[in-house]
Amino acid sequence: MSYTNVFIIADTEANLKELSCGASTLGSKFSTVIFDEQLQSVAASYGPEKIYHFQAPESGIIEDNARVIADMVQAASPEMVLLSNTTRGRLLAGKIGAYLDTCVIAGVTELTEEGTKRMVYGGAAFRTQKATAQTAVVTCNAGVFEVSEGQASGDAAVEAGSAASDVKIKKIETQPKEGVSSNIAIAKKVVDMGRGFKEEKDVEMCRELASLLGAELGCSRPVAENNGWLPKSVYIGVTGIILKPEMIVSLCISGQVQHMVGINQAKKIIAINKDERAPIFASCDLGLVGDVYQILPMLIEKLK
Ligand SMILES: Cc1cc2nc3c(=O)[nH]c(=O)nc-3n(C[C@H](O)[C@H](O)[C@H](O)COP(=O)(O)OP(=O)(O)OC[C@H]3O[C@@H](n4cnc5c(N)ncnc54)[C@H](O)[C@@H]3O)c2cc1C
Repeated sequence: MSYTNVFIIADTEANLKELSCGASTLGSKFSTVIFDEQLQSVAASYGPEKIYHFQAPESGIIEDNARVIADMVQAASPEMVLLSNTTRGRLLAGKIGAYLDTCVIAGVTELTEEGTKRMVYGGAAFRTQKATAQTAVVTCNAGVFEVSEGQASGDAAVEAGSAASDVKIKKIETQPKEGVSSNIAIAKKVVDMGRGFKEEKDVEMCRELASLLGAELGCSRPVAENNGWLPKSVYIGVTGIILKPEMIVSLCISGQVQHMVGINQAKKIIAINKDERAPIFASCDLGLVGDVYQILPMLIEKLK
């Protein structure tokens, strides 16, 4: 598949690498929009034609740039604008799509010759869509593109984007959450914590396993939303994040479809559940029937 001109909009290094790899295979030329000056050299290493650096206005937020980015996209008229399917990616995509009066296709799991593939009906089916608009705005789930390091000489022209013109929200302060930094969306290995765990302190046991495996820790929706044991940004599934890691270790996960759509693209699924009739055993590569409180400490000891 070949587009003649693709734009990517990336707000983190991880998104930048994945979208750059995607754009360089999709389009004969692509341009990159970043919001952090420090990402310039990484952006350049993938060989874009141009890099646009937009800064969030003072007391503003990155999304305030949507209008000026839309104006710039309109002038360049690419066939596709690619973003990551994160909260910010979807917000920017919606705003840019509205300003351009064009279509937005969100949560894409595959980009093929036929068009874009995305899950519908709570993950029960895939729909293939093709944009007919001049410029389509598309948000991609993590893992859609194979990530590799950039090899280009890095001499792309860098242009400062115009200042944001429609600042409607005033940022008062930003407080990073302590100890909550996660690269789960691009992790090769993931430990997946389910509602079968009894106490919040069990998170530490899962975290220890994750660290021994070199994995990121994610969870099912009830663990994040009902128990509040892990941030909502790491819950996996149809309304959470969709993953495509090499391996996922699912602990005390029953295997409901809304969760499974987030993990079933993993190359290997390993499940531990005490109920041999748990649906997850129909989808995993390796299943252990047993009590996690017996198996996990043994597994951690062995890995140590
Ligand atoms: C519209 C909608 C959207 C949803 N979106 C999502 C989503 O994006 N992501 C998501 O995760 N969920 C989502 N859900 C919720 C989903 O339907 C399930 O309720 C949820 O995934 C169940 O999470 P779980 O597997 O952790 O818990 P449970 O289904 O409660 O399973 C817990 C499992 O732990 C096992 N267990 C208990 N104790 C032990 C032990 N000591 N050792 C070993 N195993 C043990 C049990 O046998 C059980 O199988 C959604 C629901 C709806 C209606």
